[in-house]
Amino acid sequence: MSSTNNIINADAIIVGAGLSGAACAKRLADAGFKTIIMEKKSLPRHKICSGILSPRGHRFLIENFGPLPRGILHKPTFCKGVNFHFPSMLSVSMAFHHGATPHLHRKYSDFWAVKRSGAEIHDNTKFTELKDQGRYVDLSAQKNGEKIRYRARYVIGADGPNSPVTRSIYPSYPKQIPWFIVGQKFHEIIECPLDDEYFHFWFHPDLGHYTWSHARGDKQIVGVGFRRGDNFNKRHQGVMDYLEEKHGVRLKPTEESEACPENFGPSLINRYIFGKGNVLVTGQAAGFLNMMAEGMSCALHSGAIAGEAAVESFRYNMPVQQVYRTMIHSEVRRCSDQWNPLKIIFGHPHEADFWAAMKEHPVRDRIIILKDICNFIKIYAPLKWGRQIVWQAICRELRNKYLTSTWY
Ligand SMILES: Cc1cc2nc3c(=O)[nH]c(=O)nc-3n(C[C@H](O)[C@H](O)[C@H](O)COP(=O)(O)OP(=O)(O)OC[C@H]3O[C@@H](n4cnc5c(N)ncnc54)[C@H](O)[C@@H]3O)c2cc1C
Repeated sequence: MSSTNNIINADAIIVGAGLSGAACAKRLADAGFKTIIMEKKSLPRHKICSGILSPRGHRFLIENFGPLPRGILHKPTFCKGVNFHFPSMLSVSMAFHHGATPHLHRKYSDFWAVKRSGAEIHDNTKFTELKDQGRYVDLSAQKNGEKIRYRARYVIGADGPNSPVTRSIYPSYPKQIPWFIVGQKFHEIIECPLDDEYFHFWFHPDLGHYTWSHARGDKQIVGVGFRRGDNFNKRHQGVMDYLEEKHGVRLKPTEESEACPENFGPSLINRYIFGKGNVLVTGQAAGFLNMMAEGMSCALHSGAIAGEAAVESFRYNMPVQQVYRTMIHSEVRRCSDQWNPLKIIFGHPHEADFWAAMKEHPVRDRIIILKDICNFIKIYAPLKWGRQIVWQAICRELRNKYLTSTWY
């Protein structure tokens, strides 16, 4: 990269070395852009994640980065599908379309993709602030306590749910969305009748907003998602007691524990955030999160679109926001369709067939399951998303795309 007056120059700087950053970098580097990926942590870095990649995400990785090496996978190396569990003790088991999908070890998978993108990597480098000067963006970062200055034609925030890039262009944004905490604990197994080739999810209002469990190595992960302010240990213990009582899962005390904030919500109500001027926001920072908090496939696809938008904008001398906001419709449709009640009832927006799995149950059980789902959804009522979701669904039907007026 060229450097003048101690300013590091590049065509594009991507903040965040996750999968959205890697996909974005791949598009930019392939087009011949001088591209830097900046990452605050030392690479390879840890990322809290179940690592179950959707089939669509799997295809993206193979097509763009090549066959997945064994070293970027956890054990079990694959996941066959998802099991939904209900308070009525009925379960719905769904295999993924096209077979099992990889169980990524995010520490190594993300680094593998970032290295293969062809971009220059600046790790241990924490983005702090930016100023869009119109023709270029000035950006500051910290490395080993020293300030580093960068200048680039485009900056892409691929910096995850907390997104410091978003905060720097829309300081009030974090206050405008509800925040959740997701936390997981690792346990040695005494006895676990849950199928270790499946991801397990509980639609149970008493357990929390998001309750899951799956195998990793010789351990069992038990995870809970809840509104900020609730107590992680209490929530987790409630799930442990429930799993033992209802499913016969017996686990040893917690070995490791981790938690992080999540911006769950923007994709349900089509309130994505795509940036301002020459600064694009992508991946989960933009609000992309599919059903079951599956965020890797939409991170990859939205990241690639952000990269393509920058290339197109440069080539045709068009405002990059205009190009990005046009091109990103396809991914918004893919992601928000997963939450759209009309698409769920009449279409097939997911990569596992819920309705086919339901047909395996007698009609009486299907009715009980649907009632259980409705009771579970009620815990989200205080967020007042219902009307917004219905309105977005109607607009989607009428215009074949989601409204852009709710985007930032
Ligand atoms: C507990 C849990 C389980 C999950 N399970 C799954 C799953 O099974 N399947 C699935 O598909 N998705 C899952 N997800 C969601 C998935 O992890 C995310 O949606 C996905 O990682 C988003 O990718 P990203 O590239 O947008 O952001 P991230 O992967 O979050 O990457 C952002 C990067 O930006 C860096 N960064 C942040 N701030 C700065 C800064 N100031 N300067 C420089 N760098 C910075 C971060 O260190 C990070 O490396 C899960 C999430 C959680 C929390």
